[in-house]
Amino acid sequence: MASPVPSVSELVAEARRVYEQSFGGDGPQVAVCAPGRVNLIGEHIDYNQGFVLPMALPMVTVVVGSRTSGQSASIITAAKDVEEPRRVDFDLPNDKAPLSPGKPSWANYVKGVVQHYRAPPVPGFRAVIASSVPLGGGLSSSASLEVAMYTFLQQLKPDDGDKVAKAVACQKAEHTHAGVPCGIMDQFVSVLGREAHALLIDCRSLEATPVPLSDPGLVILISNSNVKHSLTGSEYPSRRRQCEEAAAILEKASLRDATLKDLEDAKSRLDDETYRRARHVIEEIERTAQAAEALKKGAYKEFGKLMVESHNSLRDLYEVSCKELDELVSAAVEVEGVFGSRMTGGGFGGCTVTLLQAEAIDRTMQHIQVRVLHYNLRRAPENYELRTCSVR
Ligand code: ADP
Repeated sequence: MASPVPSVSELVAEARRVYEQSFGGDGPQVAVCAPGRVNLIGEHIDYNQGFVLPMALPMVTVVVGSRTSGQSASIITAAKDVEEPRRVDFDLPNDKAPLSPGKPSWANYVKGVVQHYRAPPVPGFRAVIASSVPLGGGLSSSASLEVAMYTFLQQLKPDDGDKVAKAVACQKAEHTHAGVPCGIMDQFVSVLGREAHALLIDCRSLEATPVPLSDPGLVILISNSNVKHSLTGSEYPSRRRQCEEAAAILEKASLRDATLKDLEDAKSRLDDETYRRARHVIEEIERTAQAAEALKKGAYKEFGKLMVESHNSLRDLYEVSCKELDELVSAAVEVEGVFGSRMTGGGFGGCTVTLLQAEAIDRTMQHIQVRVLHYNLRRAPENYELRTCSVR
């Protein structure tokens, strides 16, 4: 059985309840939301300026709230799995006193967005956050929080409405306040994703091409391993550094500009690990371009094959997979009607994404449950089923 995902109106109702209980008064005047995302292919590529192919999810983060006359912000999250306290109050920034990151850590995503909002000064406000994106599961709960928060501020005090600049401001918030040197993909697709489409993003030019994904015979299955290995904090920046080192040795601005031949020619000047990291990136950029073409043609088998190649490369060359993700992928691809499967997101836990025929969904979910019991995963995975023809 697929896990139920609360609807946007259910989330708004939850957030409104918390708002009224905590702040009293007339209730919130504004309600906004922004989606999480699943990346179909093109992993660890955005910070290498290449192509990625994510799609926005029906799982969203909602922010409800109101403007106040003061110069401070009060924010509550309804999320259960975050550092306490779940309410923060802070003075809004000005030229002389910028907002610094601090505790609790979840509030840094909000503070970063307030700091980088493109039409300062931000007025006083009260707000409540509620989300259906699983936190820390590789489906970009953090980017959806940043983008929802930015959209909320736009309602209080509009900026110029530039969507790409909005995504870049949210990315900056994550760099400076959450301390994660992320690429642009997550914020970009949360702002610009379209219903019933994947989005091919060129992370160098920031040009985005919607790729229709609305075949009633097709389903995308997300399986959440429910594990998060603590390596993630240091491994992400170290991968990023290795890619920069490889690009410098190849005398390229980024690995986007390098070919496999460039890499092979320079092999003797790279240590083995840096060579493997760069090879993943160069091949994954090519795979993503091919996958977008395959999707446009409805060539799902070809797309699925590229997904599996991507997973194997992330496992063997980039070394960001883990036992639980490998097992979920192995289980999925054993089922007839499954085109392909791979880990999605930063890795070391989180989710896999599987492309399959709609008629194969029940047996696929069942097979995954049976196989993972056999593997003794700590918790059975949760499955989210996305009908590509209608994103709720
Ligand atoms: P993800 O893949 O879900 O973005 P991250 O580890 O990058 O995983 O970000 C998860 C973090 O983002 C959480 O630990 C929390 O600090 C913050 N976050 C995300 N959603 C919420 C929310 N609804 N309320 C409060 N904090 C949130």
